[in-house]
Amino acid sequence: VHKVVVDDAKTILADTVIVSTGASAKWLGLPSEQKYNGFGVSACAVCDGFFFKNQDVAIVGAGDTAAEEATYLAKLCNKVYMLVRRDEFRASKAMEKRVLNTPNIEIIYNSETQEILGDGKNVTGVRILNNKTQEESELAVSGFFVAIGHKPNTDIFKGWLDMDETGYIITKPDSTATKIEGVFVCGDAQDKIYRQAVTAAGTGCMAALEAERHLAEKEYA
Ligand SMILES: Cc1cc2nc3c(=O)[nH]c(=O)nc-3n(C[C@H](O)[C@H](O)[C@H](O)COP(=O)(O)OP(=O)(O)OC[C@H]3O[C@@H](n4cnc5c(N)ncnc54)[C@H](O)[C@@H]3O)c2cc1C
Repeated sequence: VHKVVVDDAKTILADTVIVSTGASAKWLGLPSEQKYNGFGVSACAVCDGFFFKNQDVAIVGAGDTAAEEATYLAKLCNKVYMLVRRDEFRASKAMEKRVLNTPNIEIIYNSETQEILGDGKNVTGVRILNNKTQEESELAVSGFFVAIGHKPNTDIFKGWLDMDETGYIITKPDSTATKIEGVFVCGDAQDKIYRQAVTAAGTGCMAALEAERHLAEKEYA
């Protein structure tokens, strides 16, 4: 029997548990980023890129995800400014090459986002600082994508379930089973690759079937 404590107030005893606590995008932490979230600011190019078809956008980040999202946006958008904080990429060489070979991506190295600009309703631009020269400049964009990583909401399972170095829960191959019998995990808490509603629903279905099978094997159901 597994014990789940909810809000330090309620204790549930269960024969099987499905963890589906998701993951949260990392944000820059600017007030303007919050203000325009959903009105030009997004943390998911695959989800929201289409709304910026033929427009100019900026994406911040320098890892593989940022590089992949920048090339995805480049297929839809007129121009993609890629804002890289250092003077080099963190992405793999292969991804970096893809970005460098995409004509409508302009990489701006040594750039830090100071403020996301807007008209009170939607994003209209971004103010950036060159951290080498301390020069400020503005880019006119209608979309601002943040691709600096995700954090799975799995801290509460630390010490109980196996995780990778970034906190994604490790499941058995082709399964949602964890190392604890009867405990399954689905969705973004265990998926650092796709992070989509449809894949979360798919692994959710897998977890439900596996939980049911587990109960049947134990003759609980
Ligand atoms: C802005 C945005 C747009 C998106 N657009 C799309 C799209 O167009 N298409 C698409 O396929 N995907 C999209 N996604 C991704 C999609 O939303 C996620 O992949 C999906 O919701 C993951 O499902 P999940 O059940 O794993 O986690 P979530 O939907 O994140 O649900 C996790 C839940 O667990 C709760 N929780 C967390 N910690 C605890 C805790 N300790 N105790 C109790 N509850 C907890 C959270 O409050 C939340 O309710 C988008 C995501 C964002 C942020």
